[in-house]
Amino acid sequence: TTRQLIMSEKLAAIGEITAGVAHEINNPIAVMQGNLEVIRNAMGRKAELAKTEFRLLDEQIMRISQIVTKLLQFAKPEEYAGYVERHSPDDVIGDCLPLVQHLLNKARIAVIRESAATRLVAMNRTELQQVLVNLLVNAIQAMPDGGQVTLGTRDEDRDGSRGIAVTVADTGLGMSEEVMARVFDPFFTTKRREGTGLGLSISQKLVTRQGGKISAVSEAGKGTVFTVWLPEAE
Ligand code: ADP
Repeated sequence: TTRQLIMSEKLAAIGEITAGVAHEINNPIAVMQGNLEVIRNAMGRKAELAKTEFRLLDEQIMRISQIVTKLLQFAKPEEYAGYVERHSPDDVIGDCLPLVQHLLNKARIAVIRESAATRLVAMNRTELQQVLVNLLVNAIQAMPDGGQVTLGTRDEDRDGSRGIAVTVADTGLGMSEEVMARVFDPFFTTKRREGTGLGLSISQKLVTRQGGKISAVSEAGKGTVFTVWLPEAE
């Protein structure tokens, strides 16, 4: 329809602008990082006195650079297409868990693994990790008072194609119908400060590029299940 056409043209335009701005931001970030290092070295042992301040500066610069990377991935995903290999989905989940362990501990969240997949998926490992970490972080953020996250894998055929389903289920806040309808929209977020609203839209791009699908089932007050379906590796 005309509306969809206008929408996709708008998104393409936003993508172009975003990519341009993100590239522009990368240079000053690199300059800041370099100069910070020079100042720290010039201060010698005195740098210890401003240890906390240096750490904060490092962290905040890192944070900006991560946001920029996310924006670039959203705007120009094809430039970020990595090398595709065959992986056991359970191995990739195993790589993701240590990355969010501190968040799981802090929020008192238990992890349950239900590994049943015997097939392999074909996807760039870093990208698959990124998708699963996004889903895990969302699940954790949906359970501020603790709970459990269940990570499942199983062989599943869809429309006559062999594939693998990976599920991330939480016992958190859940979502209303209105939120559900918009979760994959770029920049849609219900989180004030921590949210960029890009996690799920990037995840969807990465998964569909591999011929897969990502979907959600949720009940407000009960929890949410995100399912990533990927075709089996040749
Ligand atoms: P962000 O996490 O930065 O907000 P996302 O694209 O990852 O961006 O998610 C978009 C929105 O989808 C979130 O702000 C939240 O409202 C909703 N959402 C995603 N995952 C969950 C979940 N597991 N439980 C409840 N709401 C979720």
